[in-house]
Amino acid sequence: MLKRLPITFWATVFVTVVCVALVSLDFWRSWNARGVLLEETERSSTNLARAMSQHADDTIKAADTSLADLEERIEMDGLHEGQLARLHQVMLGQVRALPQLDGLYAYDEAGRWMVNSQPTLDRKANNADREYFRFHRENRDKGPHIGLPVISRSSGKWIIPVSRRIDKPDGAFGGVVLATIDIDYFRRFYASFDIGDNGAVALLSNRGVMLVRRPFRAEGIGASIVDTPLYQAYSRSGTTGTGMFRSTQDGQVRLNSYRPLQNYPLFVTAALSKEEALAHWRRDTWLHSLGVVALAALLALFGQRLIGQMRRRLEAERELRQARDALASLNATLEKMALQDGLTGLANRRQLDVSLGNEFSRATRQGASLALALIDVDHFKLFNDRYGHSAGDDCLRAISRAIRQQTPKRAGDLAARYGGEELAVLLPNTDIAGAWAVAERMRQAVAALQLPHADSAQGIVTISAGVAALVPQRGVDAATTLIEAADKALYAAKSAGRNRVAPDLGLAPVLTP
Ligand code: GH3
Ligand code: MG
Ligand code: MG
Repeated sequence: MLKRLPITFWATVFVTVVCVALVSLDFWRSWNARGVLLEETERSSTNLARAMSQHADDTIKAADTSLADLEERIEMDGLHEGQLARLHQVMLGQVRALPQLDGLYAYDEAGRWMVNSQPTLDRKANNADREYFRFHRENRDKGPHIGLPVISRSSGKWIIPVSRRIDKPDGAFGGVVLATIDIDYFRRFYASFDIGDNGAVALLSNRGVMLVRRPFRAEGIGASIVDTPLYQAYSRSGTTGTGMFRSTQDGQVRLNSYRPLQNYPLFVTAALSKEEALAHWRRDTWLHSLGVVALAALLALFGQRLIGQMRRRLEAERELRQARDALASLNATLEKMALQDGLTGLANRRQLDVSLGNEFSRATRQGASLALALIDVDHFKLFNDRYGHSAGDDCLRAISRAIRQQTPKRAGDLAARYGGEELAVLLPNTDIAGAWAVAERMRQAVAALQLPHADSAQGIVTISAGVAALVPQRGVDAATTLIEAADKALYAAKSAGRNRVAPDLGLAPVLTP
């Protein structure tokens, strides 16, 4: 089944497979490269998030350590006037030492400013309204509290408040110590990252409040992000993770890595723009795909041309084969036509002449006897006149069939139409007696056909034959000699009354059959 399919079919399959393989291989390669790129981007953002979380942890930890120290001093020594000057010095020293610290503050249980790291103290100010103050007044919890970002009343800067509760010796609420962390400190740190034009990093509280973000927008500070897919993913896992999210801030799709801080209820996120990460790949893939598709198209075009040519050549070959076969059969027909008589199917005069010449030469060489019988239908003119020319043709065909059947089948024996209603039988290696016997059998065979002939003496179609034979001698005899002799004998047979065989006695000794 498969073998019968033409070569052009397989060529088409081959070209198609090559083209498809080329394109799909390139597609596969590109897709892989994209995957690798995204993986790399994810790794970068994960690393960034780790660094950021560590940094935020350390930053807050340092401030909180100062706070814890102040808290302990105040709880031990109280907030007496004498203490305040010393505390002021301690606070100044801490703020100088820690660049992230905007200021350190201590408030009494009523929220009054007791001491802080500023050069002069505004005793009239009161911070009892601040969120962290209310928080500590209401919670006995001794841990640090990280508040919402606010603009500092003393420095006018955006700060993140980190605070601790002060207990009185009896455990009652004794005030608050506060460290304010400069948001600019984070901003400067985040500004040093290479996150592309569309990357974003942020520090957020576990409750979904934005503390710092790059790109920086003042109205973004303190904003809630609880509705964002990023926050939902983080709050679901509560731990490190990554995800591709569309930003609600600017609509960019980014690969986000988020990571909680180790010691504080905050988390960081580092997000790299997917668009940016893939920009180079996209341009590369475009160019590459264009090249590959062009190559495949060229291949397909070239293949198609080639297959077309192949098909045309096969077609031409097939036509040529057909023409050759037709020519061969035509040649065979022509050959037959050239040697055969159209009406009777016997050999024609030309073949008889050729065969006679050949056999005569052979007989001369071999000293063999060659015989010829000349046969003529009796009163055939009358037959035609009575029954018509067409019936005459049929009659001639029937007689020829009978003659052919009686012709010996040895090589060289030949029955031919000599002309008109005269037939000739060539019999090599046959003497006069043999030829006579053959001719006699033929005469009887024709008579046995019982073809009606009202104008003949017997009432049926009969033939007369003259036979002659000779052993030809070189330089003496010619083929015509044999024909003339047979013709003479035929004439004798006609004269003697027809429907008989007469031998020529001039060339060979008489032998009765
Ligand atoms: P005879 O016994 O003396 O031979 O008398 P005949 O009438 O046969 O005389 P002849 O041999 O001279 O006659 C030949 C006739 O045979 C002439 C022609 O009408 C007829 N004849 C020759 N060739 C054909 C042929 O191919 N078809 C037909 N139907 N008749 C032919
Ligand atoms: Mg005749
Ligand atoms: Mg005749």
